[in-house]
Amino acid sequence: MKQLLILSGKGGTGKTTVASAFIKLANAYAYADCDVDAPNLHLVTKQSDNPILNDYFGMPKAEINSELCTKCGLCIQHCRFDAIDESEYKVDAFACEGCGLCKAVCPANAITLKDVKAGQLMLYKNESSVFSTAQLKMGSGTTGMLVTEVKKQMKNEAKEASFAVIDGSPGIGCPVIASISGVDMVLIVAEPSISGISDMERIIKTAQKFKTKIAVCVNKYDTNLNNTEKIEQYCQNANLPYVGAIPFDAQAVTTINKGLSIVDIDCKSGSAVSEIFNKTMKLLLE
Ligand code: SF4
Ligand code: SF4
Repeated sequence: MKQLLILSGKGGTGKTTVASAFIKLANAYAYADCDVDAPNLHLVTKQSDNPILNDYFGMPKAEINSELCTKCGLCIQHCRFDAIDESEYKVDAFACEGCGLCKAVCPANAITLKDVKAGQLMLYKNESSVFSTAQLKMGSGTTGMLVTEVKKQMKNEAKEASFAVIDGSPGIGCPVIASISGVDMVLIVAEPSISGISDMERIIKTAQKFKTKIAVCVNKYDTNLNNTEKIEQYCQNANLPYVGAIPFDAQAVTTINKGLSIVDIDCKSGSAVSEIFNKTMKLLLE
């Protein structure tokens, strides 16, 4: 299965808009949304209301049995995350990293590590598509592990698919690293602003560490032609394929708000994305 990952250095660049257009243009059977903090690809790919749900348990959390605890303080001394309240001998689940050291040092055997639900995996599957996604529970960590589960679910459920589109998460953190791992190509959607260029450079450097194919496109290029030129120049200097630019398009906003993709209608942003799609696919398959 050839996996194409769509990324941006930050949120709001149009990454999901491009991903949903690619899914439509490729008539993709397999696709996934790895933005588990704020998934929204399901909103623009018309999914059924009834996905198959599976609870996701991330790292366990420590729990102190107050009846057994002798208040010796050893667990507090050893917890590197300051997750145990000194006055009440209670574990703060948001701060606990589940390392288990407190349990190991507790002389009273008062600490247990409990599995805690950290999110939910969702699978939308029918004859024409397999869509894997997830939603992390507020305040939960282990985002990277959940992203890995999303990709694994997609691959397991669409073993026969030769191609998959993955909508990545913004930034360069753990979930992004997990989404890049194992993909065949990364398409970066950049924004022509000073911060957008800086974010693009950071995500390119991150993706380069994985030695995967990388291509770059710009969204809303006409909002700053000077910066768009800088992005194109950067790609030229870094020997990276620059696969095109999408204009700002008020029609695109209206279309997305209706739950459609920009290639569902005849509009200037849709035409630009179609060209980018053709170039990207050529690079992916070469
Ligand atoms: S190490 Fe065990 S007994 Fe000591 S304070 Fe912590 S929970 Fe209580
Ligand atoms: S499991 Fe680790 S992080 Fe959690 S309370 Fe115990 S020592 Fe601290």
